[in-house]
Amino acid sequence: MRQLASIQKISKLEPIEGADSIVKATVLGWQLVVKKGEFNIGDLCVYCEIDSILPEKPEFDFLKPRKMRIRTIKLRGQISQGICFPLSILPSGVKIEEGKDVTAILGITKYEPPIPASLEGVAKGRFPSFIPKTDEARVQVLQDILDKYKGESFFYTEKLDGSSATYYLYDDQFGVCSRNLELIETEENTLWKLAREQKIEERLKSLNKNYAIQGEIIGESVQSNKYKLRGQDIYFFNVYDIDEHRFLDFDESVVFFKNLDLKIVPVLETNYELSGNIEELVELSVGKSVLNDIQREGIVLRPLKEIEDSSGRISFKAINPKFLLKYE
Ligand code: ATP
Ligand code: MN
Repeated sequence: MRQLASIQKISKLEPIEGADSIVKATVLGWQLVVKKGEFNIGDLCVYCEIDSILPEKPEFDFLKPRKMRIRTIKLRGQISQGICFPLSILPSGVKIEEGKDVTAILGITKYEPPIPASLEGVAKGRFPSFIPKTDEARVQVLQDILDKYKGESFFYTEKLDGSSATYYLYDDQFGVCSRNLELIETEENTLWKLAREQKIEERLKSLNKNYAIQGEIIGESVQSNKYKLRGQDIYFFNVYDIDEHRFLDFDESVVFFKNLDLKIVPVLETNYELSGNIEELVELSVGKSVLNDIQREGIVLRPLKEIEDSSGRISFKAINPKFLLKYE
């Protein structure tokens, strides 16, 4: 789970050109605007990430016009992501420790975009325990991982803004899952409809092995169809070997999907030496989508050879701030 609110140190304060009452602060790998004089470098604060929904309390009234949600904004030309509050917003008795998660203590929840019925589907059961769910951590909270893996050979793909789908074949049983659930086949369900259209069950059966494949569905009725597709389509980004409990490496996955004649997410760079600098990675996320003339949502970075770290699979996203400013 994302740590939406936590106690963090203000690591930098820098002037903003043309502004005298606000300054740019750095917290973790995030950059945001704070009032001048409110904090000093090294101070601890309560930092709340974008997508936090704050409870309706007088101290958060200023967020009412924004439906209590913290979004990416631009102030005096400076992109600002998140909010720093003084420690005094914490209830008394909370132990002050850098890094401490205070999301629940403050009653903060996460904004989730509404899901149309065609994507939500009807649950058959929980997401299968033998397949990892799709998820990508944000680069802004991964400085330790970057320090550890900088210089390694990575590739990155365009992050598509749609809805996640998992298809699997396990001992001849074909299954279709959304982000968190396995779904019953119905006429209306887009994940099943695509499975039938693209003959995914047949294609997986041709392999005689237990695999799960995961991709992003985009198109009509999905995230307001930013890519302006007709109908829907799916672009894959994962192959998981269920018996060997491992994701296929990049080159293996490319061959895998080529053989099955299924599309993969746009590959933007296959020989990228990972930078350890978060700002640089956020800069890399900025650009147009390969699929249409719009700002892309961002990029997903992975090592060319899969790495299973003690913290999990090494794979993360950098979201394009220009995309967030335009669409969120
Ligand atoms: P957060 O955890 O940051 O609050 P979230 O959990 O809603 O947000 P997303 O922002 O949707 O996550 O990012 C992760 C999702 O991105 C994955 O579940 C996957 O469905 C989707 N995705 C889209 N394009 C790609 C890609 N190229 N590679 C990997 N995943 C991708
Ligand atoms: Mn997530």
